[in-house]
Amino acid sequence: MIMSGSAHVLKDMTFRELEEYVVSLGEKKFRAKQIFKRMYEGASSADEFTDLPKKLRERLEEEASFSAVKMRTRQISFDGTRKYLFDVAGGDAVESVLMHYKYGWSVCISSQAGCRMGCAFCASGISGLSRSLTAGEIVDQIVSVSRDAGERVSHVVVMGIGEPFDNYDNLINAIEIMHDERGLGIGSRNITVSTCGLVDKIYRFAEDMPQVGLAVSLHAPNDDIRHKLMPISWRYSMDELLKACRDYTRTTHRRITFEYALIDGINDSNENAAELAARLRGMLCHVNLIPVNSVKEKKFSPGRRQRADAFVDILGRAGITATIRRQLGADISAACGQLRLQESEKENR
Ligand code: SF4
Repeated sequence: MIMSGSAHVLKDMTFRELEEYVVSLGEKKFRAKQIFKRMYEGASSADEFTDLPKKLRERLEEEASFSAVKMRTRQISFDGTRKYLFDVAGGDAVESVLMHYKYGWSVCISSQAGCRMGCAFCASGISGLSRSLTAGEIVDQIVSVSRDAGERVSHVVVMGIGEPFDNYDNLINAIEIMHDERGLGIGSRNITVSTCGLVDKIYRFAEDMPQVGLAVSLHAPNDDIRHKLMPISWRYSMDELLKACRDYTRTTHRRITFEYALIDGINDSNENAAELAARLRGMLCHVNLIPVNSVKEKKFSPGRRQRADAFVDILGRAGITATIRRQLGADISAACGQLRLQESEKENR
């Protein structure tokens, strides 16, 4: 278990905050650059900072911690996808998934332990929200996955357990840290945040992080179907949500991605596709169709491939690009929240 006793979790700090901390220890500012660089190369204990003076290493050993998450389990798929369960302070656990694409290695990370959004098809929300992750816990998933796999992560999607915009301030700090070229140096355009539709935060995010990508989980062509799947739809109607999305693309000039989980008999008919096409017409967007993952606790199933192909066709004829997401890690517990759920079931046996 990760202990929460350390006074200073270094990965919680932006570069500037680390500089202030180092100066408060009576050291020169440039030590912060050395620590930041080595820490994001994967060093996880004071011993590994051989370029620091012994006195500073001892001080850091005493009062600071370099790691914010600790690997509990790892599953590796036949296609190379790796799924991790990490312990975080307080006895909870979160998931991250490393996937390989043509353009490089991408990691999907969690922003909260659990989730209070309660989407009907999702394993992550089954036991509600335990707590939001700190910036360090968000960023350390990338460092730990990269170190374990021996691969450089070039892309990050914040699409694992939790609703990132429900942990907005820590998310923004984490993005600042992962983007800093003195550390991980992940380009803003290679970072994507996914929301289930917290409209007020979409407006804020467009102003705060215009270079970072946005994915919005839609999963329905209208409010009636969305009400059955996503409780957030009672707070923000689809009209309000799509208005915020249009505003986002106007402000950022960035294409928005709509996530749409295809669920047999619920939202995957030709009529559903035509209605969705009408609502998205003229938007700078891409639709990512995801055959829903079967989760033991939920009764939804992904439906037939022909349905998904027809959906793509109907959207395409309306000028909306859509693709069916390649299923990576199909042989492991790749559905978001499944591994965490399995582990907590084991503990409760
Ligand atoms: S789909 Fe995302 S927002 Fe919805 S319950 Fe799951 S983790 Fe939360």
